[in-house]
Amino acid sequence: MEKITVDQARKAEAVGRQACLQGWVRTRRDSKGGFSFLELNDGSCMANIQVIADGDLPNYESEVKTLTAGSSIAVEGEIKASSGKGQATELHASRLHVYGLADPETYPLQKKRHSFEKLREWAHLRPRTNTFGAVMRVRNRVCRSIHDFFQNAGFLYVHTPIITASDCEGAGEMFKVTTLDLDKLPRDGQNKIDFKQDFFDRPAYLTVSGQLEAEIFACALGKVYTFGPTFRAENSNTSRHLAEFWMVEPEMAFFDLEDNMELAEKFLKTIFRDVLNDCGEDLAFFNERVDDTVLPTLEKIVAADFVRISYTDAIACLEKNNASFDYPVSWGVDLQSEHERFLAETEFGCPVIVHDYPRTIKPFYMRANDDGRTVRAMDVLAPKVGEIIGGSQREERLDILEQRMGEQDLNPADYWWYLELRKYGTVPHAGFGLGLERVVQFITGMTNIRDVIPFPRTPGSAEF
Ligand code: ATP
Ligand code: MN
Repeated sequence: MEKITVDQARKAEAVGRQACLQGWVRTRRDSKGGFSFLELNDGSCMANIQVIADGDLPNYESEVKTLTAGSSIAVEGEIKASSGKGQATELHASRLHVYGLADPETYPLQKKRHSFEKLREWAHLRPRTNTFGAVMRVRNRVCRSIHDFFQNAGFLYVHTPIITASDCEGAGEMFKVTTLDLDKLPRDGQNKIDFKQDFFDRPAYLTVSGQLEAEIFACALGKVYTFGPTFRAENSNTSRHLAEFWMVEPEMAFFDLEDNMELAEKFLKTIFRDVLNDCGEDLAFFNERVDDTVLPTLEKIVAADFVRISYTDAIACLEKNNASFDYPVSWGVDLQSEHERFLAETEFGCPVIVHDYPRTIKPFYMRANDDGRTVRAMDVLAPKVGEIIGGSQREERLDILEQRMGEQDLNPADYWWYLELRKYGTVPHAGFGLGLERVVQFITGMTNIRDVIPFPRTPGSAEF
């Protein structure tokens, strides 16, 4: 018999089909008439399908009546039109097979609703909850949208390394990768750890960004993007930071900052539109149960332009409200989350692109402006989550790049290959990084980033 999903079986056109459905029981209700109603979920959609299991089934007393929340079953039968509220169809079982029961004394996902914190302790079971199932379907749709967007626009998908020896950028927040015996570290003549004896003959780390390597490919193939895991050892226990997260990084030759901002806006709107079109049921759930501004916000955003404002103008605007901030601003400081949210939520009520930041607070590779004090950086700030994208036009002038490295005490020898991209056939180029989890957070309204990734890694936590 043909296997179909609950999502397929719930559609009116499925009426009359003989099919097999497999999944997990959410509830069982026995009727006085000697039959039972089961709510079956298989993760293909938010909704369950109602199964009617007749008392005639050979295993009705022995098995059907032992089913509780979490039990796994296969049901064969006919899909019929349903007169029940909120469902077009129901499944009349002619055969019901039990794969496994779930002891109601110990199975944690009973009727009672658990907090998201509690559910994190059950990372192996929380995918079976409505909320987490919806998060995962949205996350999947976002990933597909990301690839579609770039593939349709002629970008090449490149894979940048996860283990890297670029040891300068963000050194403080990198995880080390080593095969040295930590109990017997080899020492060199100066009693420093002798990395010559390590696997790569040098210190190695988990990547914090694929950007520098993506630039290599943009400077040969035009438009490229990376999409992979990224690691940051920063000890920030916030609702927006993970130690392991997924980042999308497009990098484009012959793009300036304006092109970059335009691409970022188009990109985000495409993702939002795709999710609005294809995840209606899940979004409706988030809007009803998690955050009732989620749907109107997304709909408004896809229809309107993002605000663009220079850092200098943004500071002027924030300074007027300094009294309300924990960290008052002045020209030259980095924006904190409270300032980012003020701009996106209170001041403009929509995503805001802040551009041209002070050179002292941004990395060496961002293109210097002629004013001598700012660089061609841009951050896209979203209501609730703050920074969702960070990017820039890259410095393509060799002499200025070397000067900027000097300002930041970086050793040009460590970046010889990066500098050679400027020495041989240099081109203007730009790119940005989008944190996948921040987008999913924004779309779903989930307040903690740990609830939008299957297995969150945060300081002190890596159980699964
Ligand atoms: P923030 O200031 O929010 O810590 P950042 O400026 O360090 O972020 P970038 O280095 O610009 O971040 O990284 C690009 C994007 O990656 C960010 O805009 C954000 O969406 C995402 N991102 C950065 N750090 C994290 C993290 N620890 N966990 C999840 N996403 C992150
Ligand atoms: Mn940033």
